[in-house]
Amino acid sequence: MRFARFTLDGSSRCGLVDGTDVRPFPARISTLEAYLELPPAERSALATEAGRPLESIQLAAPVHPHKNVFCVGRNYLGHAEEIARARGTALSLPKVPTFFTKAPTAIAAPGATLRLSSAVSQSYDWEAELAVVIAQRCRDVPESAALGVVFGYTCLNDVTARDLQRDHGQWFKGKSLDDSCPIGPWIVSADELGDPQALDIGLRLDGETKQASNTSQMIFNVAQIIASLSRGMTLEPGDVIATGTPDGVGFARTPPEFLYDGARMEVEIAKIGVLRNTVALT
Ligand code: MG
Repeated sequence: MRFARFTLDGSSRCGLVDGTDVRPFPARISTLEAYLELPPAERSALATEAGRPLESIQLAAPVHPHKNVFCVGRNYLGHAEEIARARGTALSLPKVPTFFTKAPTAIAAPGATLRLSSAVSQSYDWEAELAVVIAQRCRDVPESAALGVVFGYTCLNDVTARDLQRDHGQWFKGKSLDDSCPIGPWIVSADELGDPQALDIGLRLDGETKQASNTSQMIFNVAQIIASLSRGMTLEPGDVIATGTPDGVGFARTPPEFLYDGARMEVEIAKIGVLRNTVALT
C-alpha cells in the first residue's frame, strides 16, 4: 500500500494512493502515528472515502516526526570516494554508520518550493536518499529482525548547506535549515516494496541526471543501520531514517555545482516514485 498525507478541504488528512486516486481515511486518522496506533486488524479493515484524483490533491510530507530525522552520512562507496577526491584525502570507510540528524522543522512537502536564503548559505547542495519509516516502538533490534520493524519507504532529499556543514564542525546546523528536508511523495509499505537493497536511486536537476545509483551500493544496509541505531536507543513509530546518498552531489563535482534560484530537483527511487521540489533562492 501507498500511504499519503494531504490537505483536503482545508484539513490535514491521510489515506491510500490507489492508481491515480487518493482514498482518504476517516478524519480521526490524520497522521501516520494515529494510523500506526491502530491494531493491525483494524488498520487493514479501515474504511476509506471515495477516491479523489491524485492530481487535484495537495500532498504533504507523508510523515512528520516530532523529533529529529535520523540520517547516515557517507553510506555509499561512490560518495565516500568522491568526498575523498574532492578533499584530496585518502579514502577511509566508516566502520560503523555515521549518524547525524536533521531538525523536524526542516521537513518540506513533495511539490513544495524550497525557500532557501542566500544570506545564510552560498552552497546549497542536493542528496537523493532512501528514507526508512519505523512502524513500532523498538530497541536493540537484531539485524535479522530489523526489516520487520519497518513500516515503509519513501524518497528524501537531504538538502545541505555545505559551507555551514563545514564551518560548524557538527553537521546539524548545515543540515537543518528550513525547507532542507523534503520527504515523499508517499510511503510504500515494506511488504509492497520488497528488498530495499535492490532499488535504482537517482536525482535530476532541471532534467539532467546528477545522481544514478542503486541501493545495493550502500556500505551499511537498512537492516544494519536499524540494528546499529536501535542499540541501547529506543526508536518510535513514525521515526524516519535517511540512509545516505550516492555519488554525484554538487560540491564534489569539478567545478563544484550548487543549487540556484528556480532549480527543479527530482529524486526518483524505483518502486516508490518521484519527489519533486523547486528552489527559490531568496
Ligand atoms: Mg545525506
